[in-house]
Amino acid sequence: MSLLTVGSVAFDAIETPFGKTDKIIGGAGTYIALSSSFYTKDQKIVAVVGEDFPQEMLDTLASKGVDLEGLQIKQGEKTFFWSGRYHNDMNSRDTLVTELNVLEHFDPIIPASYQGVEYLMLGNLSPQVQRSVIERLETRPKLIAMDTMNFWMEIALEELKKTMALVDVLIINDEEARQLSGEYSLVKASKVIRAMGPKYLIIKKGEHGALLFHGENVFFAPALPLEEVFDPTGAGDTFAGGFMGYIAATDDASFDNMKRAIIAGSALASFCVEKFGTERLTDITREEVDARIEEFVALTNFEMVQTVG
Ligand code: AMP
Repeated sequence: MSLLTVGSVAFDAIETPFGKTDKIIGGAGTYIALSSSFYTKDQKIVAVVGEDFPQEMLDTLASKGVDLEGLQIKQGEKTFFWSGRYHNDMNSRDTLVTELNVLEHFDPIIPASYQGVEYLMLGNLSPQVQRSVIERLETRPKLIAMDTMNFWMEIALEELKKTMALVDVLIINDEEARQLSGEYSLVKASKVIRAMGPKYLIIKKGEHGALLFHGENVFFAPALPLEEVFDPTGAGDTFAGGFMGYIAATDDASFDNMKRAIIAGSALASFCVEKFGTERLTDITREEVDARIEEFVALTNFEMVQTVG
C-alpha cells in the first residue's frame, strides 16, 4: 500500500564528540523516506528544496522507489539548513543554526496522482503545514502518523493541538511527552496526550527504547545496546519511517502489527546512528535489516522455568 511522507529535505552540519561534518544531506523527510523504502516501494513525498540541492540524492531517493512528483525545487532559493552540536552523552544537543530558506513559505502542494494514498507520515514541520496536507487529501488515509518537537509546543501550541486532533498516531520523545502533558509519569502523560486526539502514542526514549500506548495496552521495545553511537541525528525520523513503512507494506494498522512495526523502526534507527547523516541508511541491505531484527527478537526472548513451592 502507498505511503506519503511530508517532511524537510535539508542540509545539516553536525558536531559530535567524534567529529564534525560540513554541509551534508539531512532532513526529517529524507530520513523517513530512506528508512521506509526498506519496506515499501510505493512511496511518495511532499517536500521542498532549493536549486542548490544535489540531484544525486534525488536520484538515490528515486532509485529506492520514492515518487518525487510532490518534491518542489525552487529556482533561485536555498535549501533548509540546520546545524546541531551533541553533548558528550549523545542524548542531548544544541541547535546552532536554523535557516528556514525554502521552508519559510512552504506550501505543500499535493499532486493529483497522490490522491487516494493509504498511509500518511507527517514529519516534523509546522503544525499548520502538517494540517493543510491532511485537509488537502480528498480521502482520509487509513492511518495518519505525526512527529513534532518542543519548538512547536513553545511557539504554536494551539495550532499543534488542532493538528493532533486529526491524527491517529503521535510519535514524540519522553521529554516532549512530559512538556506537552505537564506530567512526569509517562503513563499519566500518555493519557493526557491521547485525550488530545491520537488514539496511539509512541514515546521514544533514545537508547532506552520506545513505548507504544493504546487504550489500556502498553508495549515496550528496547533499543539495541550498541558499542558506539556515532551520530544520533535522524534516528527518530528513521524510526518513524521504518514504523510507517512496515505498516504500509503489511496494510495492517492493528496494535499487534504496530508492535512489529516498532521493532522494524528500532532496527533501522540502530543503523542510522552508526555513521554521520544518511550514510549508513544508504549502504545497508534488506538482509542486514532482517538480521538485526533477529537480534532484537533474541534480546528480549526468554522462557520462564516453572518453580515448585
Ligand atoms: P531528529 O534527529 O530525528 O530530530 O531529526 C533531525 C533532522 O531534522 C535533521 O536532519 C534536520 O534537518 C531536521 N530539522 C531540524 N529542525 C527542523 C525544523 N525546525 N523543521 C524541519 N526539520 C528540521
